[in-house]
Amino acid sequence: MDDFAVIGSGIGGSCSALFLSKKFQTTLYEKASYLGGCASTFKHQKVFYNTGATTFAGYEKDAYMYGFFERHHINFHKKLLPSALTVCINGKKIVRFQEMNAFLDEINPVFYHSKNKDFYTLVQQINKDFFAINDYYYSNASLFEKVKSLASFKTLLMKFYPYFFVNAQSFIQNYFGTIDEKYLDYLDNQLLIVAQARLHEVNFLTAALALSYQFMDNYYIFGGMGSIFDTIAQKLTHIQSNTSIEKITKTSSCFILHTSKNEFKAKNIVLNTSLFDAKSLFTDTKTKEYLNHYASFNKDISAFMVYLQIDTPKTFEHHYQIILDQPIKYTTSNSLFVSFGDKDDERMKQSVTISVHTQTHLSENDQKLEQKMELEDIIKRIVCEHFGLEESRILNAFSATPQTFKRFINRSTVGGIPMRQENFIYRLPSNDSPIKGLYHVGDTTFAAQGWIGVMLGVRNLEKLICV
Ligand SMILES: Cc1cc2nc3c(=O)[nH]c(=O)nc-3n(C[C@H](O)[C@H](O)[C@H](O)COP(=O)(O)OP(=O)(O)OC[C@H]3O[C@@H](n4cnc5c(N)ncnc54)[C@H](O)[C@@H]3O)c2cc1C
Repeated sequence: MDDFAVIGSGIGGSCSALFLSKKFQTTLYEKASYLGGCASTFKHQKVFYNTGATTFAGYEKDAYMYGFFERHHINFHKKLLPSALTVCINGKKIVRFQEMNAFLDEINPVFYHSKNKDFYTLVQQINKDFFAINDYYYSNASLFEKVKSLASFKTLLMKFYPYFFVNAQSFIQNYFGTIDEKYLDYLDNQLLIVAQARLHEVNFLTAALALSYQFMDNYYIFGGMGSIFDTIAQKLTHIQSNTSIEKITKTSSCFILHTSKNEFKAKNIVLNTSLFDAKSLFTDTKTKEYLNHYASFNKDISAFMVYLQIDTPKTFEHHYQIILDQPIKYTTSNSLFVSFGDKDDERMKQSVTISVHTQTHLSENDQKLEQKMELEDIIKRIVCEHFGLEESRILNAFSATPQTFKRFINRSTVGGIPMRQENFIYRLPSNDSPIKGLYHVGDTTFAAQGWIGVMLGVRNLEKLICV
């Protein structure tokens, strides 16, 4: 019997399996044939595409993720990008350079404000100060443990209390005095891609951390994001891929994991499945009730993806956000995120991944296939027009709906729990639980989504289990 079974090989599951396997007999179970979940890379008709995540940040030398990868000898081919992202709005471009003056030279001609420099300096400083603090942990094993762990947030709270309790939209409006509607729309869309929420929904600390994502070192990952997981897989001896856990039962001494053909036993489990989809795995009422408690965090957020194979002599930056005047039909956003493979990346050079926010019910059944095809066409048209790309340069195009995510990685909400004010830390699901031996990791659990957020959860889990 294993000490730990990790169910799901997303960022959270794969990295947890790495640290757990150093100390405990651990097996990583994954439904798909490859690791990575939303951050995986898949092959379609001989071409590789990033499933969802395309940007990689939070890998500064003093960051937890850097230390973690060093400790576990996870080496991958990457290059530091001169700018994190190019935002296209109002027919103009804002290149999100990391360097403050270079960025101010970009934002000022599009959205001039005398307070721009002070505002972005504040945002950048909050980011630096936030990631320098790491003396906190978060537990949910019991009320006592929860209160004790929340006391560990003392330094964070003292440093940032003016930003914890103030709504981001109000803060920004007060800070700038008057601010152009379009400028607010720009900030709103920048926030949305990192925090899955709008300015009026989050506190200013969350907004500052999201808006400063582009000031961090951003890397291009050669071979696709999945190449990080290929390296992780080499370090793990016990991986069961193509293994979907259908049901989990509990005995007094262990968990029994049922697939359609087999049963596996483990003393503890780390669930990397979305918390919203985990309830159906369990048969016992206590665990079901515990998981049900978090159902209200499900804000029905998902993504529609378009994947393109292109062949063009044109060169592009790696990442663009295109902000339009109107919401895109069938979606919940007026912006598209477009990522191009690097020309020097043999595996990805023709690959484009495009994403837009939607609700989960988009294209639930065959009757909605027309809707899916229409949206794919709309997005293709926007991208072609925007980048001056002739349609004949598109060699292949296909799309994925929330149902596709459900089919491949067992979750239809993607992107994690939106960091809204009402969801703030003390209400979030923790990486441990009141159910003995049941742990969680991933973007529907503390601390947040993306490489940076999920790795903060891995750090928390490591503190809870190994210290
Ligand atoms: C469109 C999109 C764009 C994004 N862009 C970025 C970005 O640019 N940068 C960034 O840092 N983040 C980005 N994110 C967010 C980031 O991808 C996710 O927050 C992160 O990958 C989630 O990791 P996770 O640990 O929660 O696992 P998940 O990615 O949710 O993976 C869970 C894994 O568990 C497996 N699984 C589920 N149920 C079972 C079961 N019963 N049995 C076996 N296996 C199971 C699934 O197959 C899957 O592999 C993006 C997300 C999306 C959707």
